[in-house]
Amino acid sequence: MAKYILGIDEGTTGARAFVIDDQCTVLGLAASELTQHYPRPGWIEHDPMEILSVQLEVIRAALRQAKLQPSDLTAVALTNQRETGIVWEKDTGRPIYNAVVWASRQTVDVVERWVDKGHGDMIEQRTGLIPDAYYTASKIRFILDAVPGAQERAERGELLAGTVDTWLIWNLTGRKSFVTEYSNASRTMMFNLETREWDDDLLAVYDIPKRMLAEIVPSDTIVGDIGATFGADVPIASNLGDQQAGLFGQAAFAPGQSKMTYGTAGVLNINCGEQPQRIAGLTPSMAWGVQGKVAYEIEGVLFAMGKTMQWLRDDLKLIHAAPDSEWYAGQVPSTDGVYLIPAFTGLSAPDWDPYARAAIIGMSNATTRLHIIRAAVESMVFQTRDVVEAALTGSDNIRIPELRVDGGAVKNNFLCQLQADVLGIPVVRPQIAEATVFGTMLMAGLSTGVFSTLDEVAGMWREDRRFEPNMSRDQADSMYAGWRAARELTKGWARNVPSAG
Ligand code: ADP
Repeated sequence: MAKYILGIDEGTTGARAFVIDDQCTVLGLAASELTQHYPRPGWIEHDPMEILSVQLEVIRAALRQAKLQPSDLTAVALTNQRETGIVWEKDTGRPIYNAVVWASRQTVDVVERWVDKGHGDMIEQRTGLIPDAYYTASKIRFILDAVPGAQERAERGELLAGTVDTWLIWNLTGRKSFVTEYSNASRTMMFNLETREWDDDLLAVYDIPKRMLAEIVPSDTIVGDIGATFGADVPIASNLGDQQAGLFGQAAFAPGQSKMTYGTAGVLNINCGEQPQRIAGLTPSMAWGVQGKVAYEIEGVLFAMGKTMQWLRDDLKLIHAAPDSEWYAGQVPSTDGVYLIPAFTGLSAPDWDPYARAAIIGMSNATTRLHIIRAAVESMVFQTRDVVEAALTGSDNIRIPELRVDGGAVKNNFLCQLQADVLGIPVVRPQIAEATVFGTMLMAGLSTGVFSTLDEVAGMWREDRRFEPNMSRDQADSMYAGWRAARELTKGWARNVPSAG
């Protein structure tokens, strides 16, 4: 008899739910948007009750589409936006404040305070993370400060805090399971990368009572069931942060296996095996705990990937739709030395310069919009080489034999081919474009016996197209050298030219 897995994908912009069978055929898919609240410039919040209600709604819709009842399911799988923090009342389940979203900058001064007091090194050493407002710790601190009496209530054990996975699981299980897992926990800035526990010294620095925090378990733990919400005791059998779920969905189970996601932003994830690796400019995290083993990963975040296409479309009006970029870029044999550095909000990995600003450089009278569009597509390729090179030069033992790719922009064949050319390794696009939710569904299938081994799971990953490098190394290196020179020029711009904003 066929077995069915429900995949819950709680993202920043909205909620989705998938139902697949044991051959990975999609039987149901539903999506709905989530309201974004911007209480002040740079602040982003979500209503946790809406996160829950929208998620429940899409789960029901996906089941209806698949013509299945909850009791037909074998497993529930979860993946979610990472780092976002929620604090709620243990007794009533009511959030005391909105969810503070990962991208929100409202806690920059909270983090500055910790760094000014000299805790920056300890934070980085224990968690692997360079102290930043992205991570959950400062969001929880912010909420406890913003709501009168919250700190005292937290100390009395009346409040719970967690990332979105913890919030959803607590609610889906009828408030029975209060848990998180390695990949989500390692993005909170409260998690010790070596002991794989909450770090007591850091919690003391943050003044966050440990009793507010969930139990940390391996990612494939059966943490409870959805009986209380869906009337059928289907186990929640996997839980992974979105990027790690994507790495799992690309079947990157061995050290060195990597994936690059070309979405609005870009994220390179490299499986590093059972020990954390520290590489300048890149972020170490946990990939997962599965089948009694743990894996670590290294991550390189690029702020502007597909975002640059949106800018060409919405602001410069050079293209009508992002996919048009493929055709335009192919109309000229090269950019003739034009580079577009998309440092709109500064440079991300591996340079991390918040003062850098975007630039188009190298134009002549012969430059047309075709060159600029091509330079924009090329910027995705060169940024990827930046993070791949940082990983290779910063580590003795990482080898990257090929790059598996996903995200909205990988339909662009020009992009994939040029990526293979510039890196000098094959770029491989899978048939399944939704690596993230498939990753967690495959893990849930593994923990409930739908699949028996990691090898069998790897067999579910199928290639759509393989792009072999087809450019001389000299040519690739000289194109890339131009990019590096151009990128240097953007550094520190907003500091040197204050009107740059
Ligand atoms: P998100 O990160 O929001 O989940 P997606 O993975 O859906 O994003 O990818 C959407 C991004 O990819 C958008 O920024 C869009 O501009 C870009 N994009 C989509 N199709 C193409 C394409 N064919 N070529 C280049 N960029 C594309």
